[in-house]
Amino acid sequence: ENGFTGKVAFVTGAASGIGRATALAFAREGASVVVADVSEPSNQETARLIEELGGQAIAVNCDVTQTEDVKAALDKTIEAFGRLDFAFNNAGIEPKQAAPVAEYDEEEWNRIIDIDLRGVFLCMKHEIPLILKQGRGAIVNTSSGAGVIGIKGSPAYTAAKHGVIGLTKAAALDYASQNIRVNAVCPGYIDTPMMGRFTGGTDKGRAKVISEEPVGRMGTPEEIAAAVLWLCSDATAFVIGHALVIDGGQTVQ
Ligand code: NAD
Repeated sequence: ENGFTGKVAFVTGAASGIGRATALAFAREGASVVVADVSEPSNQETARLIEELGGQAIAVNCDVTQTEDVKAALDKTIEAFGRLDFAFNNAGIEPKQAAPVAEYDEEEWNRIIDIDLRGVFLCMKHEIPLILKQGRGAIVNTSSGAGVIGIKGSPAYTAAKHGVIGLTKAAALDYASQNIRVNAVCPGYIDTPMMGRFTGGTDKGRAKVISEEPVGRMGTPEEIAAAVLWLCSDATAFVIGHALVIDGGQTVQ
């Protein structure tokens, strides 16, 4: 018994990148997985990949900013698998705009805060009552390197990702005595479709990103997935409210 067999994991942003890799990692360890995303065909593909591994998965169309969507996705989780043990609140978007605060578009601010911060709150709000029924469980939220250092020209994303760490710490304290551990991961530059949009998909763009990495490469989604599973495992039973940076040293400099 590895702590995952027969358990149920809920993963948001599971249609792509870090979310998909983590959904697959949960399934490989024997958990049933609910994959939630707004990108429906790709999300169904994640569920199909899990089934191909011999795992169990359902795909749910869920916008993490919509209370009704989040509640319906969690209702489907209970309908399909009868319980909830782990949640990875990972859905997120990158900024469309780089601008200093005085020139930052208010709509863009609202969009980033809504998905990257309020979405994490909304998911936790509805996941926690279900996890409490099991008497124990773990939640991991996706922050970023931008959750620990400031990013010039990116006030909304920096604020949202710092906010995810604050929210993680508050929730960790709220539920510490009830055996729900809440932690965060802070990925550095990870090679995902989001990163492809960030670099413009060009060799030049990639080279610039890689030049900022002390280890001389980007991280892989699987390297984040491994950290998420570790934070959900009994190996970290004494770890709460932690923000684990996985970034090849980018924020160490
Ligand atoms: P990605 O774009 O490849 O995947 C993100 C997924 O989230 C997509 O499938 C998208 O459809 C989904 N999503 C977006 N808005 C949603 C919403 N409202 N409701 C439900 N799903 C929604 O990105 P990724 O690189 O895998 O990023 C995953 C998380 O990691 C994000 O929170 C991102 O901010 C964070 N992150 C990524 C990096 C990186 O370098 N890739 C670095 C630091 C943090």
